[in-house]
Amino acid sequence: MLDAVIYNDDDFKVEGNLDIDKSFFEKNIKNKNCEKVKINGEDYWVFKKDNCYIIDKFVCLDETIEEYEKNAIYDGLTGCYNKREIVEFLNKFLHNYIRYKKDPFSLLMLDIDHFKKINDTYGHLAGDMALKEMANIIRNLIRKSDLCGRFGGEEFLVILPNTKIAGALKLANRIKDAIENHSFKFKNREIKFTISIGITAVGINDDYNSLMSRVDEALYEAKNKGRNRIEYR
Ligand code: GH3
Ligand code: MG
Ligand code: MG
Repeated sequence: MLDAVIYNDDDFKVEGNLDIDKSFFEKNIKNKNCEKVKINGEDYWVFKKDNCYIIDKFVCLDETIEEYEKNAIYDGLTGCYNKREIVEFLNKFLHNYIRYKKDPFSLLMLDIDHFKKINDTYGHLAGDMALKEMANIIRNLIRKSDLCGRFGGEEFLVILPNTKIAGALKLANRIKDAIENHSFKFKNREIKFTISIGITAVGINDDYNSLMSRVDEALYEAKNKGRNRIEYR
């Protein structure tokens, strides 16, 4: 997420972590675009877009605002949500579930088996291609209401709203089988790979750490039991 977004239409509004009031805004931010400003003694970048100001710390100056917004949300290689974004979604789903006791969800953590070997055998670009292939397969099999993010190097996290373990297991099997039966060509060589998947469902006593440890443990078990398999906790 961005550090702050300031809406400057009829209703002045600030979303995000920064404490910016209207007079500070009028004096220091209004009408600035692609400029550095100091907020609470720290440097931030300001971008203006229509009636809206985007405030963020880390910016690549070659990017357009559209590219910048896209890169702040999506992983550049796979087009899935980046880690920050998928974690933000997860926390929102979790808080909503705990507060209103509705809309439970399941999680899949998917990790390529022996990914290092793909890099070592065929090169890093082939590894990158495997990541793209995996992301495409996941995206084609999940619902529009499901969310997929790249959680780490070759690890993807999928949030399945209103889905119980049994449903998550069905989907996980479909993804696992699709990847096992898939191959892609790189420099005229046919490359195949498999994945392991951990599954868990949210419980009323969960917090972010308990939920993530459970899905991690499930994935770890799938790896330990031989890979190319699914475990749930
Ligand atoms: P396991 O079956 O236990 O998951 O083994 P693994 O080899 O898949 O896992 P390990 O964590 O040992 O290696 C992950 C590798 O992923 C190491 C790292 O160099 C590589 N990696 C991480 N990010 C990227 C990336 O963006 N592109 C490529 N090509 N490789 C990456
Ligand atoms: Mg791996
Ligand atoms: Mg991994």
